[in-house]
Amino acid sequence: MGVVENLKEINRLVPPGVTLVAVSKTKPDEMILEAYDAGHRDFGENKVQDLASRRERLPADIRWHMIGHLQSNKVKYLAPFVHMIHGVDSLKLLSVINKEAVKNHRIIDCLLQVYIARETTKFGLTRDELFQLLESETFGQLQNVRIRGVMGMATYTENSDQIRDEFRLLKLIFEEIKGAFFSGNDYFDQRSFGMSGDYRLAIEEGSTMLRIGSLIFGARNY
Ligand SMILES: *Cc1c(COP(=O)(O)O)cnc(C)c1O
Repeated sequence: MGVVENLKEINRLVPPGVTLVAVSKTKPDEMILEAYDAGHRDFGENKVQDLASRRERLPADIRWHMIGHLQSNKVKYLAPFVHMIHGVDSLKLLSVINKEAVKNHRIIDCLLQVYIARETTKFGLTRDELFQLLESETFGQLQNVRIRGVMGMATYTENSDQIRDEFRLLKLIFEEIKGAFFSGNDYFDQRSFGMSGDYRLAIEEGSTMLRIGSLIFGARNY
């Protein structure tokens, strides 16, 4: 099946209010344009270089999501245009994003990446680290970043009970943080979880942003 058919299939299951981020990494611009021409606007990349070069080549109204691990020294390349940064996992990175946002006269939407997997290879903040970050004086001074919610990646496993548990943990942490730091703040409303292999579970467990690549664009060969 083609990109547009795949998108349609998935969109049938995506509840209203949930954003489908089409993860286009390693795929040609033409495939993005197919989806774009069918009305899709949210696309995700995990490398700054790819995000920046695609932004130059492709329509200006695409909403570009940075979904991968972001290094502080590269923030400046995406600060002028990025729609949302999903993987913020340190106060240092957040401070740099804020600084670059100021330079560009922007408020940049960010998600805090939470460590939920049982693997040791995934990035993210533990619950304690999250609280430390949000309680810190430095964080309180950052005026040009807007924390929209949390992002997480479940363990890469066939065990759907485990994935479900990890998604539930993320939702719980989201609610705890919302209560403690963002109550009465309408912007803190996003939970980014669910990829090609687990997006149905993610929808059931309350994801508001699905990041789906291979199911839309086909398997990647690196
Ligand atoms: C690649 C990637 C995805 C999408 O993965 P698929 O399994 O192809 O859907 C989602 N999130 C992140 C952070 C990724 O790097």
